Amino acid sequence: MKQEKIPYKINLTENEIPKSWYNVRADMKTKHRPILNPATMKPVTPADLAPVFCDKLISQELNDKDSWIEIPEEVLNFYRMYRPSPLVRAYFLEKALDTPARIYYKYEGGNTSGSHKLNSAIAQAYYAKEQGLKGVTTETGAGQWGTALSMACGYFGLDCKVYMVKVSSEQKPYRKAVMETYGATVTPSPSDTTQIGRKILADDPDTTGSLGCAISEAVEATVTTEGYRYVLGSVLNQVLIHQSVIGLEAKAAIEKCDEYPDIVIGCAGGGSNLGGLMAPFMADKLAGKKAPYFIAVEPASCPSLTRGKFAYDFCDTGKVTPLAKMYTLGATFIPASNHAGGLRYHGMSPILSQLYHDGYLDEARAVKQRDVFDAAKLFAKVEGLLPAPESAHAIRATIDEAIKCKESGESKAILFGLTGTGYFDMAAYMQYNSGMMEDYVPTDADLERGFAGIPDVVEA
Ligand SMILES: *Cc1c(COP(=O)(O)O)cnc(C)c1O
Repeated sequence: MKQEKIPYKINLTENEIPKSWYNVRADMKTKHRPILNPATMKPVTPADLAPVFCDKLISQELNDKDSWIEIPEEVLNFYRMYRPSPLVRAYFLEKALDTPARIYYKYEGGNTSGSHKLNSAIAQAYYAKEQGLKGVTTETGAGQWGTALSMACGYFGLDCKVYMVKVSSEQKPYRKAVMETYGATVTPSPSDTTQIGRKILADDPDTTGSLGCAISEAVEATVTTEGYRYVLGSVLNQVLIHQSVIGLEAKAAIEKCDEYPDIVIGCAGGGSNLGGLMAPFMADKLAGKKAPYFIAVEPASCPSLTRGKFAYDFCDTGKVTPLAKMYTLGATFIPASNHAGGLRYHGMSPILSQLYHDGYLDEARAVKQRDVFDAAKLFAKVEGLLPAPESAHAIRATIDEAIKCKESGESKAILFGLTGTGYFDMAAYMQYNSGMMEDYVPTDADLERGFAGIPDVVEA
C-alpha cells in the first residue's frame, strides 16, 4: 500500500521474519569454483570436512541447488528476540547532505552482540547442538563474531573456545569480558596452546596476530579435541545463507513503501553482510527483473577486491584450511597495525568474488580510514547512532553517492547495511578524535609479498 510519507522506521511484524534463508548460489549463472582439499587438490567431499565442520553446515556449504533453506524453529524463535531489525529512512542524513537521494539503512547493531554476526552464530550453534557436540572453536578479529558466538553457545549450553587476534584482545578488553560473561574461553592469538601458534610466535615473536593465524589455531584446536567442531563468522557460503535474513527483511520492508533500491551498498570484510543484504536483490538481477547497482566497500589498507588477485588461496596463514577461489591478498597478508577500522581479512567470500568477477556485483571501492571516520562522525551526529567503523565504510560510500545525486539532480534510492554499533570501538574513535589516526595504503611492493605466498593451482 502506498503511504503518504515514508516513516522514519519501517517496521515489519514478527510474523514477517522470513521462514527460509535464501541461497543465492543456486541461482548464479556461473558457480564459483569448488573448494579444494589441500592434501589431494581435489574438490572437498563432505567426508573431508566432517572432522572440522558440523554435518548440516557442510551440506549448506556445498549446496548449490536449493534456493531456499528452511530456518529451524529454534533459530526462528531466537531471531524473534531481536528481529526483525529496523529499516530506517535516513531523513536527517539526507537533510544534512541536502541531497535528493532517498537513503535507507538496515540496522543490525541492536542486539547485545552489537552486529549482524548473531544471525549466523545462532544458526551454527543450533546445528552443533543438534549434532550432539560438546562445543565449538572459532577465531575472532575485532571481537564481534566471538561475542555473537558466545551468546549463541550460552543459549544452547555449548562450550565455546575463541582465539582472538592479539592486537584486538589488547585494544578491546570489554569484548573479552562480554564473551567470558556468556561462558566462552578467550585465548589471544597467536598463542602457545597450539603447534601452529608456537611456530608463528617462533618466526615472529612480536606479531600482533591476524585473522588468518587465529583461524589456523582454532582449526588445530578443533581437530585435536573430541566432540568439537570449528565455526566461522564470515566468508563461507553457509554464513552468506544465514545472513540472507538481512536482505529478505530489507526487501520486504522497502517494498512496503513502494520503493526499490537503485543502489545497494555494504562494507566487505569477508563478504557476509553484503552477501546477505544483497542476496534477494541479486536474485532479481540474475532473473533479469531489476538492475540495482551493487557496491562493496573495503578499507584501502586491506584491499582484497580492488587490488587482490582472483586465485585459489588458503583461508588461513597456517595453510591448514581448504583452498578457495576468491579475491585474495595472500594468506600471509596482514594490514598495517595502525589500521583501526576492521575488515582485515585477506580474502573474500567465493560467492561474492564470483559475482564481482562476472560483473553482477558492480563495483568494489576502497576507502581510507580517516574518510571513513569523517563519515561515521557525521552519521552519528545526525542519525543518532554511533556506527561500527566497519559499517562506516558503507556510510562513506553512501554519502559519496548521495552527493553525486545532489550534483546530478537525480533522486536515487540508496540502501546500505549498518552492520553494527561502535560502542566497542572507542579506542579507534579516540585515535580519530585526537587526530592521531593515519591513513595507510599498502604499496604494490607490500602487496607483492602477500601475492608471493599464493599457491600455484592448475585448474581442472
Ligand atoms: C564482522 C563485521 C563486518 C564485516 O564482515 P562481513 O562478513 O564482510 O560482513 C562488518 N561490520 C561489522 C559490525 C562486523 O562485526
